[in-house]
Amino acid sequence: MQTDLAEFIKNTPQGREADAILRSCVHCGFCAATCPTYQLLGDELDGPRGRIYLIKQMLEGNPVSEKTQRHLDRCLTCRACETTCPSGVRYHRLLDIGREVLEQRVRRAGKERMLRFLLAQTVPRRRLFAAAVGIGRGLRPLLPQTLARKVPPAVAQTIVRPRPGRHDRRMLLLAGCVQPTLAANTNLATARVFDRLGIELIETPGAGCCGALRHHLQGRQAALDDMRRLIDVWWPQVDQGVEAIVITASGCGAQIRQFGELLKDDVRYAAKASRIAALAHDVSEVLTAEQEALLPLLRRRTASAAQRVAFHAPCTLQHAQRINGLAESLLTAAGYRLLPVADAHLCCGSAGTYSLLQPALATRLRDNKLAALLADEPVVLVTANVGCQTHLQSGCQQPVRHWIELIDERLQEQSSD
Ligand code: SF4
Ligand code: SF4
Repeated sequence: MQTDLAEFIKNTPQGREADAILRSCVHCGFCAATCPTYQLLGDELDGPRGRIYLIKQMLEGNPVSEKTQRHLDRCLTCRACETTCPSGVRYHRLLDIGREVLEQRVRRAGKERMLRFLLAQTVPRRRLFAAAVGIGRGLRPLLPQTLARKVPPAVAQTIVRPRPGRHDRRMLLLAGCVQPTLAANTNLATARVFDRLGIELIETPGAGCCGALRHHLQGRQAALDDMRRLIDVWWPQVDQGVEAIVITASGCGAQIRQFGELLKDDVRYAAKASRIAALAHDVSEVLTAEQEALLPLLRRRTASAAQRVAFHAPCTLQHAQRINGLAESLLTAAGYRLLPVADAHLCCGSAGTYSLLQPALATRLRDNKLAALLADEPVVLVTANVGCQTHLQSGCQQPVRHWIELIDERLQEQSSD
């Protein structure tokens, strides 16, 4: 694609990056076939090619309005288009740059600015978020149905954390900001599985948010402080040689794996950020690497364990991190019966704060996803990201869990024999 970027951005690092991305797009339109918003709305400007065109227009100095903002806001950043694109267009980076410029050009309405501000201030702060959810739960009977359904029910914390100091092998575990409130058992189950493998998982107090939330809401610059703080909290452990950083929320994993790139121009943090990005792995990758020890434990009782399970692969797992099939293989090895899911590449509509900012589209995507997941009547739905888990659970009666809980349960059944 030919480009002629405007003076205000042409000779900046962002301008050069955007220019290279724009030029890599050959305008073939293959990406539209897998774009969830294009499928729902049928408007070229609500698909990747149209959004690329809108960003190009803006960076070339053409006027922008709420119309451009509306079409870019509707993008889920699911990155299905990147998986499909034959030319390797790095759409998410172009969108990042486009959104940052757009925020400076088009002022949002007061109500929306306030909502975004409140989300950015509350959600990444673990205690504040827990308090806000607690208040929401208390007020649920008084709330309108549509709002009440958005307040997740309390989940009993049923797992006891393994005693520390029993193993020589040690890895870091990201606690996260919303997961301890919305799905407290996920990291506890993970710690118990790793304990069976002779690995201690360390959670560092004060680690907090990885920056993904603010990155989605306010752009890359707004997320940098969260990222630097996380690096500072983790660094003493990294320096002492932890083997890996284990992440159970694929949204956080996708963000942390970009730390090196996002902080490459920060002379104080660039090297540390790259080191942390290299150490960070989704829990499915770490357990696959440990399968020599894990599989014999899982396979002892597979004959009696054919529970019907539908797996939802979050976009941040399958499109951003390009991790496919690992959790499913481990569940199958543990004797669960994985059911086929139609259109598995499509987003469920959660997408960070998208379900709050674009509720109509998010609900349609959720309901389509649930119809696909429930088609073969699973007993349980599983996924790999707390946002998808909570969003899907808001639309169905069947339990929606993190897949690691099922692996943990299988190991617990065996140890109680
Ligand atoms: S982003 Fe990729 S698939 Fe989409 S129009 Fe451009 S080159 Fe084609
Ligand atoms: S990131 Fe997802 S919603 Fe956005 S343009 Fe690409 S496929 Fe469509």
